[in-house]
Amino acid sequence: MKAKTAVKPGFRAADSERSVTLLGATGSIGASTVDLIKRERGRYRVEAVSANTNAAALAALAREVGARFAAVGDERLYGELKSALSGSGIDAAAGEGALVEAAQRPAQWVIGAITGAAGLRPSLAAAERGAIVALANKETLVCAGSLFMRRAAEAGATVLPVDSEHNALFQAMSAGRREDVRRVILTASGGPFRTWTKAQIRAATLEQALKHPNWSMGPKVTIDSATLMNKGLEVIEAYHLFALKPDEIDVVVHAQSVIHGLVEFRDGSFIAQLGSPDMRIPIAHCLAWPERIDGPAPRLDLAQVATLSFEHPDLERFPALGLARRALEAGGGAPTVLNAANEVAVGEFLAKRLGFVGISSLVEATLAAAVGRGLTREPTSVDDALAIDHDSRLLTRELLPEIAAKAS
Ligand code: MG
Repeated sequence: MKAKTAVKPGFRAADSERSVTLLGATGSIGASTVDLIKRERGRYRVEAVSANTNAAALAALAREVGARFAAVGDERLYGELKSALSGSGIDAAAGEGALVEAAQRPAQWVIGAITGAAGLRPSLAAAERGAIVALANKETLVCAGSLFMRRAAEAGATVLPVDSEHNALFQAMSAGRREDVRRVILTASGGPFRTWTKAQIRAATLEQALKHPNWSMGPKVTIDSATLMNKGLEVIEAYHLFALKPDEIDVVVHAQSVIHGLVEFRDGSFIAQLGSPDMRIPIAHCLAWPERIDGPAPRLDLAQVATLSFEHPDLERFPALGLARRALEAGGGAPTVLNAANEVAVGEFLAKRLGFVGISSLVEATLAAAVGRGLTREPTSVDDALAIDHDSRLLTRELLPEIAAKAS
């Protein structure tokens, strides 16, 4: 017989075990989430897991966490996933529709950690059924933020930000009323080139750009941190998540990555969230919200950190942040174009076919050319956002040879 336990209003006793779906389970956020879930056995039950292409890792993970459903994005990998799961009782599916199906399965919590525009439809599917969506997929907000937030509100979904800066803002915002917020401040580590001169940055190699001083993350976001495009995308995320005006979102470079975000209220009070730079902190916050669970991240020792420093971002050396702001102010499809161009550019840089400064140049050239192609229209649907994304990528590829030649 089960002991009678006190439960929070809104949670029935049967709900004490939370069901969680993990989209993008084999990536960096996915791995941190799995780590937390494994430490809290009995508290979480995994409904579905998904991955883009790594069927073997997905199958192993699905078995490990006892998922009921596993979906791989690449439909050619169905056979591989199916056979890797044989005898486990876990259902296998493949293709873009399978990722959406994973999001639609009846889990209370959905961790949306798919990388890139592929995360758009599944994130939206989770929001549209009113789930609690812990969103790590930036593209959902950058490419279709207005649409996503509107649909989430209509369906009664709760959106919890996983991104450390937005998670910090979410926590800090709870100190006051939304209408009393004067502005928010996102902190940026400044990346590996924070103190480098323009000439040094011009000669930066891939290996140097991949060495993030504080955070251990996937390659795409690590490069975005080096260009500061990551912060630019985060400004756009914050705009949608918290319904702010562009001039209510500031960025400050804070090399120690101890303060992740601050909210300034109208009376002059600043509320900040601090913690070790470990993604398991914001993920734990989202998984346990509105409660808390034990976090395995290293405890923050302020005396050891000793100094917290702050400086204005230098848009001269890091033009990507300025480009993102301009795209946000232009509105419509401009942020979608920015994101698509940046994904292509970072991919080319990772493949060593484009120099580091070429990333921003290529994004800038794409944004300029996008207006004439009608790509800066406001996306009316996810299909339209994806069409803008697709056409922007083609445009970026068209412009690539000229920019690559100039920036090499
Ligand atoms: Mg972040």
